[in-house]
Amino acid sequence: MKYKSTRGGASGLSFSEAVVKGLAPDGGLFVPEKPIVIDSLDLSAMSSMNYEQLAINIISRYADDFTPEEVKDCVKKAYSFGSFPEIVAPVTNINDKLSVLELYHGPTSAFKDMALQILPNFMTYAMKKTGEENEVIILTATSGDTGKAALEGFKDIPGIRVMVFYPEDGVSEMQKYQMITQQGNNVRVVAVKGNFDDAQSGVKKIFSDEEFASVIAKDGKELSSANSINWGRLLPQIVYYFHAYFTMARNGQIRLGAKINFVVPTGNFGNILACYYAKKAGLPINRIICASNDNNILSDFMATGTYNKNRSFMTTISPAMDILISSNLERLLFDASGEDAVMIASLMDELKRDGVYTVDNRTMNNINETFWASYATEAETLRTITDTYNKYNYLVDPHTAVGLNVYEKYRQTTGDDTTTVAVSTASPFKFNSSVAEAIFGKEALEGLDEFEVLEYLSEKTGIEIPMPLRNLNKKEILHKKVCEASDMKKEVLEYICSK
Ligand SMILES: *Cc1c(COP(=O)(O)O)cnc(C)c1O
Repeated sequence: MKYKSTRGGASGLSFSEAVVKGLAPDGGLFVPEKPIVIDSLDLSAMSSMNYEQLAINIISRYADDFTPEEVKDCVKKAYSFGSFPEIVAPVTNINDKLSVLELYHGPTSAFKDMALQILPNFMTYAMKKTGEENEVIILTATSGDTGKAALEGFKDIPGIRVMVFYPEDGVSEMQKYQMITQQGNNVRVVAVKGNFDDAQSGVKKIFSDEEFASVIAKDGKELSSANSINWGRLLPQIVYYFHAYFTMARNGQIRLGAKINFVVPTGNFGNILACYYAKKAGLPINRIICASNDNNILSDFMATGTYNKNRSFMTTISPAMDILISSNLERLLFDASGEDAVMIASLMDELKRDGVYTVDNRTMNNINETFWASYATEAETLRTITDTYNKYNYLVDPHTAVGLNVYEKYRQTTGDDTTTVAVSTASPFKFNSSVAEAIFGKEALEGLDEFEVLEYLSEKTGIEIPMPLRNLNKKEILHKKVCEASDMKKEVLEYICSK
C-alpha cells in the first residue's frame, strides 16, 4: 500500500514514510492510494478472531512494508502486555437496539490509548526502515486526552522525544494532573494561554515552518506528529469498528452481514473517520452518526455544505470536542469529492485565509449518504448522563453522553431503528465532576475537591476508580511551565536544544 497527500503534492510513500513524516510536505494529510477490500468471505473468516488477531490482519493490509512478525510485535506490545484488560474493547448492551463500545480501558482512561499505545511501536520500526538518523520530536497539541496518551505511549522510547502543549484552562482537572505528573526521560509538557485551537494552530505553524525544520535538522532533529493527522493513528482505530461488529454478531445481536449504525462523539474527526474507512473497506455499516457538542461546526457543515469557523469558541464539559478546525475532515472531503486534490488544496487555503469554505453539492451528497450529524447542548448532555444512569444503571462520561443524546435525536428524526453501537470515548471518572453533578446534584458535591468527588462517585455508584486515575494528587508535579501561544516555537527550540 502506498500513500499520497490530499493536496496532490506527494505520492508513492510507504506506510513507514507516512508515519515518520506525519504531515505531507504540502500541508496535506496522507491517505492510502487504494482502498482495501474486505469481502464477505473475509468477514466470516475474521469474525471469530480476538482483538490481537484482528488488529494484525487489518493493519497488515495497510502496512505492507512491515513484515508479518513486525506487525505482530507492534500489536502484542500495544494490546497484550497488560496495558489493557483481557477484553481490550468491551461492548456493553444497553437495550435491544443499542450497545456501547467502551474504548477507555487503556492506561490513560480515554480512547486515544487504542492508537497511541501502538503508534510508538510503528514509529520505532518505521524509523529503522526509512533510515531515520535524526532524533524525532513528537510535537502535539491536546484538548486533554491525546497529550496524556502520547506521553504514556512514547515515554522512554529511544530516539524519540515528546512535547505536549495543552490549553491552560481548556482541560479537566483530572486531565491536567495526568499530564503535569508525567514521568519519563524524554517528555515535556507546557500549558498554553488560550484554547485548544490556539494550541493546535501554534503547533501547525511550527510544522509548516520550513526554516525551523532546517534549523533543527542541522542539530539532527526532526518533527513528527501524534495527532490524528498521522495515518499511524487512524489505522489502529479502524480495527475496533470491526471488532465491535464481530462481537455483536457473536453475541447473537446481529446476523453476520447485517448493517449497523455507529454513533461517534467527534472533535478532530479522527475516530469517526476510522469508522468511515471501515465502511469503505467493507464493514456492513448503514449510517455513521456524527455527534458534536455546542461547538456544532460539523453538524452545521453537514446540513449546509458551508464550513465556517468564524464563530465563538465554546468551552464545554466535553472538552475533547471543543474544536473548530476538525483536521481530518480534509480526508473525508478528499474521498467524497472523488479525490479532487486541487479542490481540497483551495478549500484549505480558503479556510486558512477566510475561516470559511463551501463544498459543492455532489461532494455533499456523497457525504450525506453515509453521515448524519447533530449536536447536544450542555443541558442535554447532563440530562443524558442522568437518564442513562437512572434508566440503565450505566455510567457515561460527557463525551459519550453527547453521542447518546444525538443518537436519540437521530432515531426520532429518521425513525431508523437499525441496531446501533455508540462509541464511548472516556471513562466517566475522567470527567468526574460533571458526571457526579449530573447524577447527584451540585449540592451533594459542595466543599469536595476534585479527588474527593472521585471517591464520592465511586462509593455512590459502586464502580471502582480506574487505576490510572487513582492517587494522582499524591504524585509529584513535574511540569509547571506556562507560555503565550506566540512563544510556542521558542519553547520547542528550548526543549530541543536541551539535553
Ligand atoms: C479525542 C476525543 C474525542 C474526539 O475524537 P476525535 O478523533 O478528535 O474526533 C472524543 N472524546 C474523547 C474523550 C476524546 O478524548
